[in-house]
Amino acid sequence: MTAASASPLVTGSVPDDRLLVRARKVTKRFGGLVAVNAVDFDIPRGSIVSLIGPNGAGKTTFFNMITGAYTPSDGEIVFDGHDLVIRSGRRLKTYKPHRVTELGIGRTFQNIRLFGTMSALDNVRVGLHVHLRSHWWDAVLRLPSMRAEEERSVERALELLDLVGLTGRGNIWARNLPYGDQRRLEIARALATNPKLLLLDEPTAGMNSSETAEMTAFIRSLRARLGLTILLIEHDMRVVMGISDRVTVLDYGEVIAEGTPDEVRANPRVIEAYLGRGAAGAS
Ligand code: ADP
Ligand code: MG
Repeated sequence: MTAASASPLVTGSVPDDRLLVRARKVTKRFGGLVAVNAVDFDIPRGSIVSLIGPNGAGKTTFFNMITGAYTPSDGEIVFDGHDLVIRSGRRLKTYKPHRVTELGIGRTFQNIRLFGTMSALDNVRVGLHVHLRSHWWDAVLRLPSMRAEEERSVERALELLDLVGLTGRGNIWARNLPYGDQRRLEIARALATNPKLLLLDEPTAGMNSSETAEMTAFIRSLRARLGLTILLIEHDMRVVMGISDRVTVLDYGEVIAEGTPDEVRANPRVIEAYLGRGAAGAS
């Protein structure tokens, strides 16, 4: 995209305070397997950055290290001024996922994780819970503060359902929603935590081409409306071309290319990584 090519969001030239995420030499080993190998990755504030690559490239593993689900084997990750990887003697530690959520990182999952037999509204309210001030004993005692907070949480959840295009579907069980709506509901729940950074793991997985186009436009609109910074994982290169400022390509855990969508698309190593293994998306 020409807008992206002219963008000042060039890795290496962005001052650190303009970066929401700065990851250096991030590595994750599972036994003998190096799933993510010394990855450097920057996410400028307000950008949409994509992480792409064939299946098994290490995309989800990298995500899981940003969200505190996995502790890196090595490297550093700074989010919004916070060191997420802490050295404790010879071992590395990381923040618990709920602390990472509180710091301002929201995510969706590659395989949808909703509470199937809870209403859409309640699924969003689970996300809001992170920031509720009431304690369980307020609920037991039915304190007025609790009731007021509950009303506010319902109101906010309804707003978020509107925002993602699920107006009027709040009472439907999550599992009874069509697949595309379940993806939107997951995004509403992630937004309920009021994130600065939204991580979307293959939000178009399992969608046909018109659903995919709709989801792509929706993600773009989220940044415009909420001023979010978005990290998108995608298997399908075509999805990220229209919306990304920068694209990083992983293959076997290593960064094989980084640049604007146009630069990445034209990179012979990227074409080989995709076509070489018969994966879709490198047309
Ligand atoms: P992607 O999301 O790019 O498809 P993943 O990050 O899921 O790739 O996986 C990268 C590699 O790490 C794969 O070989 C996968 O089998 C392996 N892997 C991922 N998670 C684990 C785990 N918890 N234990 C062992 N191996 C894992
Ligand atoms: Mg994955």
